[in-house]
Amino acid sequence: MADTPIDALVVGAGPAGLTAAMYLARFKRRVRVIHDGLSRALWVPKTRNVPGFPEGITGEALIARMDDHARRYGADIRSGHIVSCTRKDGYVRAELADGGTIDARGLILATGVATHLAKLDEGDHDAAVRDGVLRYCPICDGFEHRDERIAVLGSDIHGAAEAMFLRQFSRHVTLIPKWQVALTAAQRRELADRDILVVEGQVERLIATADEMLVHMGGEPDPRPFDILYPAFGSTPRSDLAKALGAVTDTKDCLPFHAFSDGLLPGVYAAGDVVEGLDQISVAMGQGAMAATRLHNWLRETDGHVMADRR
Ligand SMILES: Cc1cc2nc3c(=O)[nH]c(=O)nc-3n(C[C@H](O)[C@H](O)[C@H](O)COP(=O)(O)OP(=O)(O)OC[C@H]3O[C@@H](n4cnc5c(N)ncnc54)[C@H](O)[C@@H]3O)c2cc1C
Repeated sequence: MADTPIDALVVGAGPAGLTAAMYLARFKRRVRVIHDGLSRALWVPKTRNVPGFPEGITGEALIARMDDHARRYGADIRSGHIVSCTRKDGYVRAELADGGTIDARGLILATGVATHLAKLDEGDHDAAVRDGVLRYCPICDGFEHRDERIAVLGSDIHGAAEAMFLRQFSRHVTLIPKWQVALTAAQRRELADRDILVVEGQVERLIATADEMLVHMGGEPDPRPFDILYPAFGSTPRSDLAKALGAVTDTKDCLPFHAFSDGLLPGVYAAGDVVEGLDQISVAMGQGAMAATRLHNWLRETDGHVMADRR
């Protein structure tokens, strides 16, 4: 049996979910956070673009601080995996993988995205991320690789766009195909105009060492060494719970931009990477704050706790 509905359930304990939880707790709402431990922020070796941390902070330390912050004001944060959310009369029922249920008047989905990872042939993937030879987010850390030898893996328009973005930071940018180059002649010319080298052929092996990424191309005797490799394989939004509730996603499966402000359905909001837009910690925090405040005001309105002419 589920308990009496809580005010708000937040799914996700990354920057979006923990900000939302902290705001809701400070609005004196009964808020519970459920998360399955997969925040992408936990991978960040050291972020240097979160305002207030000019020397940088590890993702793990940031999440630990945010978790503590939300708990201090009363947020109830637990691990678990939500398998479904359904609407009942006036509330949402969430089902957990362990068979438990949670009933909540309001819901914030801060479920993030799953990154498509590069598969290394030698070397440890997570160690390569920690060592800074494997990166996934040029906006986050392109600045840290000024004038270095940068490789972008994936020669389609997505990879080309990423290479062009990284060209701002270094003159040594190379676009390498995983399987084959899928660019038009015009796109190749645009890259050539910016001195971005497009390598032909197929990658045979990816080897991460502590300070280099070695890329073996088929038919080449020696590996090509790079200081840093950015796979441009994209990600999959974790939007299934929202879709099951009836939310409509865009062609990339992201939730619409207004999800953190206008909501998806009455009392249901989303925030952070799962929403279309810029996948960044500061954006996720801002959207979490907005979603929490909108949900709080929606609950106040539902309870008749706002001035009549503001309803
Ligand atoms: C290697 C790397 C480096 C990065 N560096 C930076 C950086 O320097 N600066 C920056 O601004 N951004 C950086 N980012 C991006 C940043 O990590 C994300 O933008 C940020 O974590 C998004 O926050 P979020 O709360 O939306 O999602 P996440 O932090 O991914 O959190 C999603 C949460 O939802 C939970 N969840 C999802 N589905 C379920 C479910 N069904 N049941 C229970 N729990 C669920 C997960 O467990 C997790 O707690 C980096 C990302 C990567 C991968």
